[in-house]
Amino acid sequence: MRLPILALALPLALVAQEPAILAAVDRQAAPALTLLESLVNQNSGTFHHAGVRAMAELTRTEFDALGFTTRLLPMDAVNRGPHLIAEHKGNGGKPILLIGHLDTVFEPASPFQKFERKGPGATGPGVADMKGGIVVLLTALRALHAAGHLAPLPLTVMLTGDEEEPGRRPDLPNHSRLEMVRLAKLSRAALSFEGGIKGLGFDYATTARRGYLGWEVRSTGKAGHSGQVFTESSGYGAIYEISRVISTFEQTLKEPNLTFNAGLLLGGGAVQADADGKATADGKPNIIAAQALARGEVRALEPAQVSRIKDRMYAIVAKSLPGTQSEIKFVDGAPPMPPTPGNRRLLALYDDASRTAGLGRIEELDPMQRGAGDISYIAAYVDCLDGLGAVGAGTHAVGESVELDSLTKQAKRAALLIYRLGR
Ligand SMILES: [Zn+2]
Repeated sequence: MRLPILALALPLALVAQEPAILAAVDRQAAPALTLLESLVNQNSGTFHHAGVRAMAELTRTEFDALGFTTRLLPMDAVNRGPHLIAEHKGNGGKPILLIGHLDTVFEPASPFQKFERKGPGATGPGVADMKGGIVVLLTALRALHAAGHLAPLPLTVMLTGDEEEPGRRPDLPNHSRLEMVRLAKLSRAALSFEGGIKGLGFDYATTARRGYLGWEVRSTGKAGHSGQVFTESSGYGAIYEISRVISTFEQTLKEPNLTFNAGLLLGGGAVQADADGKATADGKPNIIAAQALARGEVRALEPAQVSRIKDRMYAIVAKSLPGTQSEIKFVDGAPPMPPTPGNRRLLALYDDASRTAGLGRIEELDPMQRGAGDISYIAAYVDCLDGLGAVGAGTHAVGESVELDSLTKQAKRAALLIYRLGR
């Protein structure tokens, strides 16, 4: 039997071009820093639509300069700023899809607004998550361009305006990610420039991310005198019932790669909670609780795991204590991205690119270390790799920082991977 020819076995003439690409990345180090500063100083909090639009225009100019055809995709229908899409047909064929996001969690009201150099690093809103990633991507593309290798590559870039809190409307399911799904189905692979993660002597990339969905349990009981609790006529009340549900979750559902948090709990005579989690409850020690409510979230790695857990939660909720009743509702979040063989092939290519660049090996990140992201929405349709962006710390918090040398390091790896995948 003949062994399949490895994709890594590039023709020598192509391999010979690679040192020039790596050198071109080094020459982009100073422009990369200038670009990062200008992107970070443009506020693009998810809910600051004008800021997201300005950020889209800023980055759009960069892709235009590289010969991409660019467009903004408005997301007014789901009350969000626009996505940026940039296409480069190259010599044709299925494009590589390169994704990232324009928005950050830092709204204009945040005290954290400006880029600041600090020794070998820098701080600023979104400096790592993920304006640094956009800079890594653009630095890789600029280097390929400078070395004369961008022209033939078929590439599609999509930078969303609402990754941190995707716009949702129940009557327009998945509206804000439909274009990404469409583009993914046309692509040969998808690379995402969310933050890279550093190990000791090696770095990580992400082949799998857990998905999440919200859950809400509402329990009802019969209000009555506390002296009658547990009797046949009065039953257990809503608080004992919802406690049973939550503790049974904890005692029976645990399995690898699964978590199911409870984040809000109320019980009493009457309870109320709005979509943002602002809640009120009232009750008396001598009255059996009539209402209870709990909300939480499930995170899982495989689509089959999600449906199995949902079924088991439905079954637990259905076994109500005497005189009570419960129901559970699920709210879709992001789907899981399981570690498929295709994703692991991309990791092997990335690892090889990193070694060629003299930057050591790349390991597979434990999916428990990473939440859901935009790439999760397309993982069912195309081979995916994430974590190609800048390396930073303290993301989503004031003081978020980036390691500046990671910009060129990650750009070298990405440039070689894109070059090899595209040929
Ligand atoms: Zn991010």
